[in-house]
Amino acid sequence: MSKLSGIAASAGIAVARAFILEHPDYTITKTSVNDVEAEVEKLNKALEQSRAELQNIKARTLAELGEKKAEIFESHLLILDDPELITPVIDKIRSEAVNADFALNETASQFVAMFENMKSAYLQERAADMRDVTKRVLNHLLGITYISPAEISEEVIVVAQDLTPSDTAQLNRTYVKGFTTNIGGRTSHSAIMARSLEIPAVVGTKNVLSLVKAGDLLIVDGLSGDVLINPSEEEVAEYTRKQEAHNLQIAEWKKLRDEPTVSKDGKHVELAANIGTPNDVTGVLDNGGEGVGLYRTEFLYMGRDKLPSEEVQYNAYRTVLESMKGKPVVVRTLDIGGDKELPYLEMPKEMNPFLGYRAIRLCLDRQDIFRTQLRALLRASAHGELRIMFPMIATLTEFRAARELLLEEKAKLREEGKEVSDNIQLGIMVEIPSTAVLADQFAKEVDFFSIGTNDLIQYTMAADRMNEQVSYLYQPYNPAILRLVKIVIDAAHAEGKWTGMCGEMAGDSTAIPLLLGLGLDEFSMSATSILPARSQIAKLSAAEMKEMAAKALQMSTAEEVAALVHSSTK
Ligand code: PEP
Ligand code: MG
Repeated sequence: MSKLSGIAASAGIAVARAFILEHPDYTITKTSVNDVEAEVEKLNKALEQSRAELQNIKARTLAELGEKKAEIFESHLLILDDPELITPVIDKIRSEAVNADFALNETASQFVAMFENMKSAYLQERAADMRDVTKRVLNHLLGITYISPAEISEEVIVVAQDLTPSDTAQLNRTYVKGFTTNIGGRTSHSAIMARSLEIPAVVGTKNVLSLVKAGDLLIVDGLSGDVLINPSEEEVAEYTRKQEAHNLQIAEWKKLRDEPTVSKDGKHVELAANIGTPNDVTGVLDNGGEGVGLYRTEFLYMGRDKLPSEEVQYNAYRTVLESMKGKPVVVRTLDIGGDKELPYLEMPKEMNPFLGYRAIRLCLDRQDIFRTQLRALLRASAHGELRIMFPMIATLTEFRAARELLLEEKAKLREEGKEVSDNIQLGIMVEIPSTAVLADQFAKEVDFFSIGTNDLIQYTMAADRMNEQVSYLYQPYNPAILRLVKIVIDAAHAEGKWTGMCGEMAGDSTAIPLLLGLGLDEFSMSATSILPARSQIAKLSAAEMKEMAAKALQMSTAEEVAALVHSSTK
């Protein structure tokens, strides 16, 4: 047995065999072929192999997960046999004398584009099916052996160099019991998503991928950050007991689901959740979320090969607003860049992507992209309590420019006779130090602030949030960070506005007493952190925490602050 330590990224313990996830290369080049019939034959063979594979998966899914889930594969089989797709591919091979993979890819892309532009959400989803089927056939044509994360069908722990946010979104909770990666930190987006999927995860182990072979037995302890490779029977028993104790604790927290969040001395705060997709709303409600404090819309732009249309976006935003049944939903406009890439935008490679062309900077430049999103949001506002916020605001000029575009689109929609709510609060993320320092000026023009500590800490401490080598500098309790947080909260309150926090710090049990003391109004976190936070706040006195926070602001190191919190809240 060997044991390594990484960063505990998502709570819980998993015991299962290792599944190594590596990404295939789907670069397709157009080549001319002499024997077109041999190429058609190649295509037919790949279709046949894909059919057999799908029939197998369908039968297994039907037996294990039921009819509803198996229907997906039935629709994939229908696509595979659809002459409207296959005939043009064969025609292309014959008329242009090109390779089968190229002909298939070109033809399927046209269908994907067509489906994506359809009005109905049902037909839009067919685009994803078409993409999946195409990849499956391409695997056979290109000789790639690849099981996508979505297809894993036995209990495993996924081991990877890193997981992209879209890999993580595809993980099937029924089978993927946990994951562990070489790189990443607690605030990398795959870690954040693991928490919303409630999959135990340990990231940033540096070398798990080189130490583990497919099929090795693993224990991933997302509570302590340990990974055990080929543990003994006693160790498996010990960790199973630890997991059971954790489950009991969760059951205890669940009792607070429908309770308000109130401190021991009667101060109310709001606990909201961070989500990445409309599917996450179930987890928010199950965990007693009082709203959505951050909807990261960029996931809607990922895992596809072109920008989502206004209709696709409108449907997603509307679904979230309706499912939250009148509770507030803060939607963040597109925050792409940093660790979130969109291959189809072909953005230039940058030396410092986290300091580069991203988020609002890109949106103000690519107004076509931004205006489409704003229109979709404004239309969705008629269906719930929508709040909009802009990410990565560094100057008031940026905020004003973004607000201007929003107002223009609102006026246009009204002229078109579309319904738009009159009560949309408009706020910004405070995640750049310049904005925190100048919060008094911003507070005159925004309706609210949401402090994005994941980025605010990395920019204040000059420590990349993705880099485990400098993770010691990632210090939420550093008095420098606390002072910035205080500046923002006080500036908002002076103008009668509210301040939330949607960075991971808002759900951190050592930070919560400090934030309560500093007067934070809304805490937005992974859904699974909400009930532990509610339970913790109920035991704290806001007045005492205010005194404690005042002391913390005068301290000189993060360690001193952490020690103060632990001794004051024992
Ligand atoms: C943040 O920076 O704190 C934040 C919530 O945004 P993201 O993690 O998506 O950068
Ligand atoms: Mg951020």
